[in-house]
Amino acid sequence: MDSLHLYNTLSSQKEKFEPINPPFVGLYVCGPTVYSHVHLGNCRTFISFDLVNRYLRHLDYKVRYVRNITDAGHLENDSDEGEDKISKKARLESLEPMQIVQTYSLDFHEKMAIFNTLPPDIEPTATGHIVEQIEIIKNIIEKGLAYEVNGSVYFDVIKYSESNNYGELSGRKIDELLSGTRDLDAQEEKRNPLDFALWKKASPAHIMRWNSPWGIGFPGWHLECSVMSTKYLGETFDIHGGGMDLKFPHHECEIAQNKAANGQHAVKYWLHGNMLTFEGKKMSKSLGNSILPEELFTGDHPLLNKDFHPMVVRFFMLQAHYRSTLDFSNAALEASEKGFYRLMAAIKQIDTLPISEENEVDVESYSKSFYQAMNDDFNSPILIGHLFDLVKTINSAADGRIKVTQDAVNQIKVLVNHFVFDVLGLKPADEDGNQDLVNGLMDLIIEMRTRARQSKDWSTSDAIRDQLNSLKIVVKDGKEGVTWEAQ
Ligand code: AMP
Ligand code: ZN
Repeated sequence: MDSLHLYNTLSSQKEKFEPINPPFVGLYVCGPTVYSHVHLGNCRTFISFDLVNRYLRHLDYKVRYVRNITDAGHLENDSDEGEDKISKKARLESLEPMQIVQTYSLDFHEKMAIFNTLPPDIEPTATGHIVEQIEIIKNIIEKGLAYEVNGSVYFDVIKYSESNNYGELSGRKIDELLSGTRDLDAQEEKRNPLDFALWKKASPAHIMRWNSPWGIGFPGWHLECSVMSTKYLGETFDIHGGGMDLKFPHHECEIAQNKAANGQHAVKYWLHGNMLTFEGKKMSKSLGNSILPEELFTGDHPLLNKDFHPMVVRFFMLQAHYRSTLDFSNAALEASEKGFYRLMAAIKQIDTLPISEENEVDVESYSKSFYQAMNDDFNSPILIGHLFDLVKTINSAADGRIKVTQDAVNQIKVLVNHFVFDVLGLKPADEDGNQDLVNGLMDLIIEMRTRARQSKDWSTSDAIRDQLNSLKIVVKDGKEGVTWEAQ
């Protein structure tokens, strides 16, 4: 494809990308609910949209990337009942809710940086936009599409459906939804079980609470994204992204809120990333099958054979198309590891390729195929496939089996910089820190300690242990030999 096409979940079709106000592009992605560490599944979604953001920027669009932090209003089971996820964690740990928010926002940012994702341009929080959320609720009540009952405000789905198609994004049908609803607490407050909360009255135990025209309460989960996306990107904007699991009810409700408030769709293209699975099941905290990035980097997890570098993990994720599920396994990661290092090794060779007067490398056709892959709905696995063709060519040029001119080498370098580093966002594994050097030195120190112990030189072996302890390095003598761990 000669120009960017993307799959719009709203139309269930690939569409040519035509920004509302080129060269500007508004991109909104639902961010994390910061009540626990981000797991690899969450990371996959953010890496998928990092690819989208990076490619749009590579195409020279002036992107404004907004990704929120959900720090209030997201209740257990994604429903309108139960405890707020953040207050619950605060209660269990006897902490202030904002301490929970701070702890896990920092963790999220740290992990995003390790995976080399570009930070958003604006990162708004739900608690920072209570005033705006109250305003949109007032607006929806005025339009007659929401009602107040007992200090809570609900969106009137049935009334909305009279002139709108509730279910247009997720493909759900009102009748089927109705027959599938369970009797939940406080549903009797609602005119209809499908109605969803815009504002909830806070019970005395609910510690995250704000004043509103309807009494003390807190905003519904779906509201913040409608409010913050349009506040920073305009009443209509280009791309809204998030994980597939957010299509319903979260994004469906977002559409309803926007249309109720402004009479139109806010979003031109809806993009949804597919799930990271483990043995076929969605990786999630509640299923107990989630793996934390840290566990992968250290290999310290019962399901892992070994540790993996963050760039290997990023590469593994990009080897699947963002709309396909990706199953996590040791074997798949080990295969990605081999591929990643093969790619990086070839890139390292570019500077030392033997130069000829003749050229047998068609850089132009590589460039074309790279753009075609990415223009086809950000198809990173196809791009990576083409990159491996280039790897073969580079290796052949290194062996002198293919001739290449200095000019062609320069073009290859530019292409690799653009696609491997800028677009895929990969970087050589040895770039950040001197892990190989540290490993080598630790091997040496452990060897000296072992020799000291063998010759019963306890003062030397104790001194080594104490010095390492002062550097927060613990040496363990196990069945499989001596290991060490930095704490
Ligand atoms: P949450 O913090 O639960 O609101 O989720 C943050 C983001 O992670 C959302 O966009 C989810 O769709 C996404 N997500 C959750 N689990 C997975 C998974 N197993 N694979 C991919 N994305 C996920
Ligand atoms: Zn959202």
